[in-house]
Amino acid sequence: MIKKFIKKIQDKLFLSKQKSLLLAEKKRLEKQAEIDNKFPQYGDTEEANASEVAEFTKRKGIAKRLKGELKDVNDALAKIEKNKYGICEICKNPIEKGRLKIIPSARTCVADSGEQTKKHH
Ligand SMILES: [Zn+2]
Repeated sequence: MIKKFIKKIQDKLFLSKQKSLLLAEKKRLEKQAEIDNKFPQYGDTEEANASEVAEFTKRKGIAKRLKGELKDVNDALAKIEKNKYGICEICKNPIEKGRLKIIPSARTCVADSGEQTKKHH
């Protein structure tokens, strides 16, 4: 009974810590996206030179990555609200806490992340 109670409190503490990490990350990503939007957009003009096109392509890639990261963070925050945080989207098992501490917005467990299992590639 008491053990269960302690675990509940520990889980709550863990979640609130993860939430504050996610909120800080969200702030950082939104700020980054804002800075990125201030740069002029290239690519529409015929006379755009190769380096401008390369720069544009690079920025587009960064913007896309930022958007993806922001979505991961927002989804993780939504999961906390729904009490579904920390569940692997592929195998539905709990994601390792150590992994969540490093990547609070992780969607999958280590085994399903593709970071350690390279045999499929
Ligand atoms: Zn998994």
